[in-house]
Amino acid sequence: MAGTDGRARGFSTRCVHAGEPLDPQGGIHIPLYNHSTFGFPSTRALLDVVEGRNPDGNLYTRYGLNPTNRALERKCADLEGGALCYAFASGMAAEAATFLAHCNAGDHIVCIGDVYGGTFELLNDNLPTLGIETTFLLGSEVDRLPEAIRERTRIVFFETPTNPNLEVFDIRGIAETAKERGALTVVDNTFASPVNQNPLALGADLVIHSATKYLGGHSDLTGGLVIGSPELLAPIGLWRKNLGQIMAPEVAFLLARSIRTLSVRVRAQNRSAQQVAEFLERHPKVLEVNYPGLPGFPGHGIARSQMRGFGGMLSFVYDGDAEATAAVVDRLRIFSIAASLGGVESLVTQPITTTHHGMSPEERRRRGIPDGMVRLSIGLEDPEDLIGDLAQALG
Ligand code: PLP
Repeated sequence: MAGTDGRARGFSTRCVHAGEPLDPQGGIHIPLYNHSTFGFPSTRALLDVVEGRNPDGNLYTRYGLNPTNRALERKCADLEGGALCYAFASGMAAEAATFLAHCNAGDHIVCIGDVYGGTFELLNDNLPTLGIETTFLLGSEVDRLPEAIRERTRIVFFETPTNPNLEVFDIRGIAETAKERGALTVVDNTFASPVNQNPLALGADLVIHSATKYLGGHSDLTGGLVIGSPELLAPIGLWRKNLGQIMAPEVAFLLARSIRTLSVRVRAQNRSAQQVAEFLERHPKVLEVNYPGLPGFPGHGIARSQMRGFGGMLSFVYDGDAEATAAVVDRLRIFSIAASLGGVESLVTQPITTTHHGMSPEERRRRGIPDGMVRLSIGLEDPEDLIGDLAQALG
């Protein structure tokens, strides 16, 4: 988004204004068009939309041809530096449409590092029933990517930072390797948010978000996004239309409202998470802190080279077994015990009780997820209060 002076607008300005022309009625932001269908003055005008001569025309909400949805999509495309965005009913809907659109029976996906449990299930349990196989590489095995890519590998998929170890992957390097071998690089940017990282600028082909998290920011909506070029999004849009995965206009309206404050929220969360991580690093009952902003953290160097901020997510390992760790979690008063992330309220979860509950203890050990691990999503409370709460809970 450029201003009248030709200068690229700053990120906060784009959060407020990108994608939103003044409403014809003078509404200061895009209004909610809750309609399922749109009327036309003539058959000619209808055909102009149906046959693509009027690409901005509205027609039917499930097709995405709704002004509220399109304004939200323009805003999100702008924030990720992509040409086009499609909004979905959830992050999982966005992922599923992306995999289905770009992989056929016999094709192959490489997934690097830890991913959200639902993503793992989709790749490991659902897609094989359609003949689409996935090779899972541990984060420590990322060097094996060239050998893992096969002739029919269509997608290299990863999150960075990851859940719950906050591993950081070199987006540029991975995208180069994937491109050389003819595969697309698809990055789930949910943990970082576009405030902190833009994977497309680093060579990724598509970016996915669970908008349920930082973009929504208030734990009161569910949505997903895919952002990239029109060529790569066209087949994804066809799956979205025919699987009926569209984001409801009410949600698009609410999400656009949330995104207007995205930049101030996430920057505050970055600052607080850094303070909390530094406090935990000094605590005698804490064995390890995973946060990309800590200079001693293994992913710090790459994070510095590709992120503008280190995010509001962190995890730590308590010096105790599962039960003792649960007791620490239960003593927290400001943090709520909940599995999601990215909201204004701070959340705490033990991966072994939620996100990684279904995983065998051996697999958790292999992936470096000990029983004493605690994951925090830092909200917008005063950092001193969060640190005080953790201090009393840790004892
Ligand atoms: N990606 C990440 C990193 C997530 O944490 C989640 C959900 O927790 C998803 C995708 C799926 O998003 P949704 O719950 O909106 O379907």
